[in-house]
This record gives sequence, C-alpha cells and structure tokens, in this order.
Amino acid sequence: MAYVVWLDQIHSDMLPLVGGKALHLGEMTILDLPVPFGFVVTTNAFEKFLEITNIHNKIKELLHQCDAENTQQLLDTSNSIKELITSQDIPMQIKSEILDRYRNLSYSNQVINQEALRLISAGRELALVAVRSSATAEDLPTASFAGQQASFLNIKGIKDLVDAMKKCWASLYEPRAIFYRIKQGVTHASIAVVVQRMVSNVEKSGVMFTVNPVTGSDEIVIEATWGLGEMLVSGSIQPDSYRVSKDGAILEKSIGKKERRKIRDYATDRTVEVSVPKDLVNAQVLTEEEILRLAKYGLHLEKFYKKAQDIEFAIERNKIYIVQTRPVTTEAKVEEVKITGKPILKGLGSSPGTATGKVKIINSISDLSKIEEGDILVTKMTSPDMVVAMNKAVAIITDQGGATSHASIVSRELGIPCIVGTQDATKALKDGQLITADAYHGFVYSGEVALSKAEATEIITPIDTTGMTTVTQVKVNLAFPENLEEIAPKADGVGLLRIEHMITSSGIHPAKLIKEGRNEDYVKILIDGIRPIAEAFKPKSVWVRTLDARSDEFRNLEGGEDEPEESNPMLGWHGIRRSLDEPELLKAEFEAIKRLHEKGLTNVHAMLPFVISVDEFRKARDVASEINLPDTVRIGIMVETPAAALIIEDFCKEGIDFASIGSNDLTQGVLEVDRNNARISSLYSEFHPAVLRLMKNVIKTCNEHNIESSICGESGSNPEMVSQLVKYGIRSVSANIDAIDKIRQTVYTTEREILKHTLWQS
Ligand code: PEP
Ligand code: MG
Repeated sequence: MAYVVWLDQIHSDMLPLVGGKALHLGEMTILDLPVPFGFVVTTNAFEKFLEITNIHNKIKELLHQCDAENTQQLLDTSNSIKELITSQDIPMQIKSEILDRYRNLSYSNQVINQEALRLISAGRELALVAVRSSATAEDLPTASFAGQQASFLNIKGIKDLVDAMKKCWASLYEPRAIFYRIKQGVTHASIAVVVQRMVSNVEKSGVMFTVNPVTGSDEIVIEATWGLGEMLVSGSIQPDSYRVSKDGAILEKSIGKKERRKIRDYATDRTVEVSVPKDLVNAQVLTEEEILRLAKYGLHLEKFYKKAQDIEFAIERNKIYIVQTRPVTTEAKVEEVKITGKPILKGLGSSPGTATGKVKIINSISDLSKIEEGDILVTKMTSPDMVVAMNKAVAIITDQGGATSHASIVSRELGIPCIVGTQDATKALKDGQLITADAYHGFVYSGEVALSKAEATEIITPIDTTGMTTVTQVKVNLAFPENLEEIAPKADGVGLLRIEHMITSSGIHPAKLIKEGRNEDYVKILIDGIRPIAEAFKPKSVWVRTLDARSDEFRNLEGGEDEPEESNPMLGWHGIRRSLDEPELLKAEFEAIKRLHEKGLTNVHAMLPFVISVDEFRKARDVASEINLPDTVRIGIMVETPAAALIIEDFCKEGIDFASIGSNDLTQGVLEVDRNNARISSLYSEFHPAVLRLMKNVIKTCNEHNIESSICGESGSNPEMVSQLVKYGIRSVSANIDAIDKIRQTVYTTEREILKHTLWQS
C-alpha cells in the first residue's frame, strides 16, 4: 500500500497505482533517459486521504444527487466537492512521506537515507518542483481534463506543495470529468500526482520528431531555440532545425533567427520574454554533441514504444532533460495522382478521389433516370432531390458552386469524388462521353486516363486519435443514417443533422404531404431517418436542424412545381422564415423529435436555421408548446446570418440552448458573395477578418452566458479555422465525416498549445 514511489521504481503493471503520465515518466527513467528526478503520490494516498478525512461518503452523496444534464447543478457539485477536498488536511502519515521525498529531491539527485538527508538539509532551500495530475486507467478518458486542469509549475515550499497536491486531487472532480463519468456509469475514479524537479534555469529547449513530420521521411528532425520552449510553440521566432539520419549523421543544419526568448526571472520567479543577445540571434543553438545525443534518445524512445515519437526537451547547465514524449500523429497525406495529358476542363476539386465513367448530363428531373451505376453525373448544380442519383454516380461535376455548395457537402459525405465550379461542364461535355475526373486537383480528362490502381488510390496515413481526449467536443455533420457504427464512436455527437436529404427519398415535397393532410407520413419519414442516428449516438446529443430547403432545391420532387419562383432563393423563403409561414411543417418536425423522446431517445434536440430575429425564436418556441414538446428537448439556433451573429446576446438572454455557427451562409452574408457562384469564389473566405470577428463575438458572448457555442459550416472541417476557434474558446466543433480524425487532432494539439502557454506563463 505504497503512498509514494520514486519514478524509477515504477513498473508497467502499476498503471492503477500511478496513472498514465507517471507510468510514462517511469518507463523513461528506467530506460536511463534523463528525466527530471521525481516521485509519485499514488492513488493509494488519495484513497486513504478520502477515507481518513471521511469525505468519501459525502462525495458519493453529492454525485448521486447531481443531475448531470443540469449545468448549474454540475458546476455546484463540482465546486462543493473541490472545496471539500481542498479544505481538508492531508493525514500526517501520508504528508510526512511526501515531505521526506520532497526534501530528498531538493537536496540530492538521488535517493538518500534519512540520516544523510538530515545532515545535508541544514540551511538549504527547498527545490522548485512541478506538480502534475496523473490519471489512472479507469479514468483515462478524462485524463486530459484532469491533466489540463491541474498541473502546477514552479512550486516551492511545503505549504505550496501541499496546496498544489490537493488541487490536483480536486481536479478529478472538474465539471466535465463528473459529467463524463456519470454518463458512462463510471463509479470509481482515482488520481495520482507526480512531483518532479523543475528544469527551471532553461538555457535551450526544443522538440524532436523521430520521423520527418513534413515529408514523412524516416529521419530525425530537431528544432531548438534559446530559453523556454514556449517560443517554439507560439511560432513567434524562427528556430534552428537539424535533420539527422537514423544511423547518426547530421544531414542538415538550418540556423534560424531567434530574436526573442523566454527565461525565468529570479527576482519574481516568473517567466519573462526578453531580447536575445545580438551574438546569439543567428548562432547555432545545439552543439553537434547535443544534436547526436538527442537523436540517440529519440531512437531509444521510438524503439521502446514501437512508434515514431514527438519529444520535448530542455537543456539546463549543459544537461539535457526529456520533458515529454508521445506518439507522432501524422496528418492525412494524399499521394499525388500522376496523370499526364491535357485536361479538357478545370474546376475546384471539392471531394477528393478519381474516377472514370460515362458522362450523363442532367438538365431536369426527367434526366435523373438516365444515371446508371458507374456514370459521372454532370449538372449545373446539384440539389437535395438528386441524392438518389448522386449515390449511383462514381463522380460528380458541376458548372457552378464552391467548396460550401450542396454538391460538395453531399459528395464528401457520400465519399464521391466531386469537381464543382467548372463554369461550362454541361456544355463542354457530351452525353455518353468517356472521361476521367481527378477531383484531387479539379481536372477533367478525355477518355480513360491510364492510372494504375495504386496510383489512383488515396493513400491516407490513418491518424491514431486514441487517447486524444479533448475538452472542446468534436462532433460530426450528418445527412444520412449510414455507416453509423464506424462514425458514432469517433464523434462527440452530431452537431448538425441536415434532414433535407433524408426526406427526398420519398420523392414528394413535404409541403405537399402537409397540404394533403398526410402530416403523419412526414413525421414517420423523419422518425425513420433520425432514429438510427439517435440510437447510434446515444447519450451524445444529436442536433436536428428543422427544414432548410431553398425553393429551387426541391423543385424536382412531386409537389415541387408549387414552389415559388424566386430571383434569389439563397436569400429567399427558407429556414425558420418559411417554417413560421407554414407551421404545420415545423410542428411535424417537432412531433418527430417529441416521439423519439417518448421512446427514450432524449439526446435528440432541435436547431433552427437562418434565424434573423429573437421574435422568430420565440414564435418557434410557441409552435413547440402547441404540440407540448417536452422540456427535455433543447432548442438551439444556427448563427448563419450577420443579424444573428450581431444580436447573439439577445438570443442568449431569450434562452437558446445551443448556438451553431453556420459559416457557409454567414460568410456569404457578411461578404455578399454568393456561395454557389464559381466566378467570384476566390472572394469567398471564412478567414475574412469581418467573418472572424463575428465568430469570435458569438463564441465569447455564448461563453459569458454559459451556452454551448459550436460550428457546423464547412470551415468546421478546416484545421486552421478550428485551431483559431478553439483559441477563441468555442465549446464544440462539428466536422464532416472524413475530417473527424484530423479535426480531433487539431483540437487536441491546440488545447495542448493553450495549456502550455498558460503553464509557461504561470
Ligand atoms: C451553413 O450555412 O454554414 C450551414 C451549415 O448550413 P447549409 O450549408 O446547409 O446552408
Ligand atoms: Mg446554412
């Protein structure tokens, strides 16, 4: 029943006792790698603490009474438990063991006996230490919450150490960790704490990869700079970069310009940013000996973990310390498709892949039946009523459209190569013509272009996101109840369920069903489409968007002929404005959700599209009350008009439950750039500062009102955008199916970056 163990006493079977982080450090210590000297306060100590202070029953009771769905209760419970833990004294038997180790660690680099300790301790200062949570196996999914919540650097003195220790323990009860455990039915959770000597007087630091992260070559890449590593992460300096072959030869040294560095200010014990002395700005940071020694450590770690590693190191008084190692997660890499010859048409490749097939030009609904398995569907612009035909096609090519157009969105979800915005595919191509589409690059070639199978196949290095628990949820956008077994475990819910596509398979416009009094048929179609998704994702939330079909999109369905002719359907009668004009449609959609709740699928919620005023939200809520929509159904809005983004605070005060940024329409609206118009697609950018500023405002305001902000537009699948939004504080993002892994990795890395930033500054 050890309360405390040294890092080099840890064995691989000690995970429940010391937690994941400590196990890793222990393994490195045993490999003889230079890990800062330290010890672990085990889960036994934590459990004994709970037992002796007699607070375990109180904690159990508080958890038992907590309704995890009620945010306020969750926060209150978390605060009460944390207060309960931090206000107790650590029992003497545990405390004295901790303090002995702390003294030992302060005065010597190795384990020494009590007598020696007493002799050398006189008049000497205690050391600066890092105190870090290390979550255990049962609690691994919440590990990163615990880790992120409670790690303390530069701790010195007994009182501060004890306080930091209790805060680490308390972090086991952060609101999200509690939520997760209640939802998963996990009743037992424990936590260990690592105490390690600070590498505080850092002269140089950096990162090392045992595979080239850019080219994928099997070689070692080291980046280094002066001072603390935070400057590397922030990207504000140009570090040195060294490439080393795996047999130990330095292949390249590229010396960066390092004008700033972060160091510890001894007067205040804080980290400060200062100029680098002139003679060091362009000087080589690591000596050749250090480069080679690091490379050796890297190889050692890669061999031990049997996976390429991403390693952080720091150098203090010429001694290298390995601070952290983790597996390299590679970006999806698409192999260049080699095609020779001249393309006959060019557009924007918006869903990757290649295909060869016969052209079938679709000018009207009657042409849809021409499409046979293996054809290439060529049309001006796809609409939801074409989905059945799209499914048969091996590729899709359109005249109009951009990356956020319907054709692109649906093709990506269906996994069909797609080229949009060719301007004149419907004229340049002929029915029955054999073509090859290269949707990686947006080129169309005449005939069957010689592509070997291997070349044509997309080579993806799968991203291993196991263990990449993120605080920001990574949800998925869906339109069809397909491949759910594969998708559901990977995503933290459905951030946008578009219903337009699932209802077109009936071939009848829903407005016609309502007109004919067949409301029940519409309800049934919806239930059949939503239910499998709700079941697969339960208890994770599924945000069903109420109907958002533009008047031109359903024209080909039976009853579509009654749709009004509009000069600009994109800005016309769709979304909530139409639903309030035809409330029977909305009622049927709410009714479907209500019935699913009655069947126990209480994870299904409603989201209103294209909202511009609080009044619309209120009226929609009134429609919901008319059918007695239960309280368990939450109602959110899409923030996809500049109006909604600007008055988001009013919506928060009115009581929305969720705000998802629809960046496709929002960008269109802010920039006045038609998202379907290929001619001006170069002007369309979600990164325009006006769009970014609105998104930031939405996220900030929602956070102030404790309302979940999210994004479900296409840019929620763009790593650069997602990284920015995570920094703004977005609570969840919703990505396309093929982007979930990549986005989870982005969120994970960004959260670590933020955490590191905070830690280095603390
Ligand atoms: C959006 O506008 O960003 C959105 C997600 O909705 P849609 O693409 O369906 O218009
Ligand atoms: Mg939209």
